Amino acid sequence: MKKTPLVVANWKMHPGSSSAAKSLMRETAKALARTRGVDVAVAPPSVFLGELQPLIAGKKLRLAAQNVFYEKLGAYTGEVSVPMLKSVGAALAIVGHSERRALGETDELVNKKARAVIAGGLAAIACVGESKRDARGDYLSFVEKQLRAACAGVSAQALGKLVIAYEPIWAIGTGTNATPHDAHEMKLFIQRILTDTYGRAGAAKVRILYGGSVTAKNAGELMQDGAVDGFLVGGASLRAAEFASICRSAASS
Ligand code: PEP
Repeated sequence: MKKTPLVVANWKMHPGSSSAAKSLMRETAKALARTRGVDVAVAPPSVFLGELQPLIAGKKLRLAAQNVFYEKLGAYTGEVSVPMLKSVGAALAIVGHSERRALGETDELVNKKARAVIAGGLAAIACVGESKRDARGDYLSFVEKQLRAACAGVSAQALGKLVIAYEPIWAIGTGTNATPHDAHEMKLFIQRILTDTYGRAGAAKVRILYGGSVTAKNAGELMQDGAVDGFLVGGASLRAAEFASICRSAASS
């Protein structure tokens, strides 16, 4: 059965002020007003979540966090917990983005975060992806290791709350997206590993997104020929009209 696609805007550390974040959210909501057939979430910097929450009231848009900590409360200076994110409207949280892994986040930490997010009732968007491709296919075992680590201890019953984002690092913010063929190959590979672990019915609950230089121009073919279940969008999500066009491409394929 075809899944409803999911498109997630990762604003990263943009825009630079609360008023600019509110303007971008208003523009995004307006651009998406008549879009149906796709689930859409926006991940702003956490500090803006609370004030963006009223702007999505009554709309199909949901809020996501870009990062989270696995403990609920305590002496963890600078961290933000799942219940805190939930209290300011987040319904999803990205874990293991490559830009956080580059700052030292390990597979083990990503797994702790994913499990905490799911246990707290939010959906976890776990990111995996290789830094380079090689002719021997070592990138496949690299992604497999990340995927198996991220899912460790996640039960089959919880899979409705798990999303995997395949984001090859070489494609993030570079303007060079994976080809639809590459995205499709990796989607099938991820699906096979999930099927190994959870069986076909369990694996079928997990949406597998592609991320890495998605634009209005390449979104249609990545959806159709890549057969992914949606996108994680960085740079292009800061342009409301383009982001909405990407969401429409996801909805219509
Ligand atoms: C991302 O930040 O997850 C991302 C995919 O960025 P971009 O779309 O800019 O490549």
